[in-house]
Order: sequence, then C-alpha cells, then structure tokens
Amino acid sequence: MSHFTKQNIRINSKKCAQCLSCMLICSFIHSKSFNPSRAYIQIRPGHFEGSSWIPTEIRFLERCKPNCRLCAQYCAYGALEYIGGK
Ligand code: SF4
Ligand code: SF4
Repeated sequence: MSHFTKQNIRINSKKCAQCLSCMLICSFIHSKSFNPSRAYIQIRPGHFEGSSWIPTEIRFLERCKPNCRLCAQYCAYGALEYIGGK
C-alpha cells in the first residue's frame, strides 16, 4: 500500500501508546464505521523480528485527506502533532 509524508502532522512514533484512537476517528469520519482497517493511517506496533526490535511505525496512506488533521486532534499521547498548514 502506498504511503506519503503529511506536511501538517509531525509523527513521533516513540510516544505512540497504540490506543488506535487515530484510526477509529479516521474510519468513522470517512467510512461511517469504527473500523481500523478502513483508516487512512496505519499503526504498526513495535515487535521483535528474531532478536531485533523493530520500533512502532506510523504511516499515512495516500488516501489520507491533505487538509485533515483529525487523527492528531484525537491523539492524547503526542505521537501525532499538528504543526500548522494544510
Ligand atoms: S489526517 Fe484525516 S484522513 Fe488523514 S489519517 Fe488523519 S484523520 Fe485520516
Ligand atoms: S492516537 Fe496517537 S497514541 Fe493512539 S495509536 Fe494513534 S498515534 Fe498512537
């Protein structure tokens, strides 16, 4: 799946608590359902691959709306920070 860099939201994946609030609000607004698989943001939780720790990844999908910042507004942990602009 394609990803893109969002200009108006700064990602700090180290702060992510994997609460999924961002995915839930995105899917609710854009597909009228609380379904993380329909969100335009992906959270890939930190995990071990063999003996290597792969940190949490946060990505915006191409379908993410450029002028939207709802997920950052609903992130209570500071992992998504609105930095202004569209
Ligand atoms: S900015 Fe809006 S459209 Fe993009 S992932 Fe966040 S809530 Fe969804
Ligand atoms: S709302 Fe913030 S803390 Fe929760 S999963 Fe999304 S980025 Fe992580």
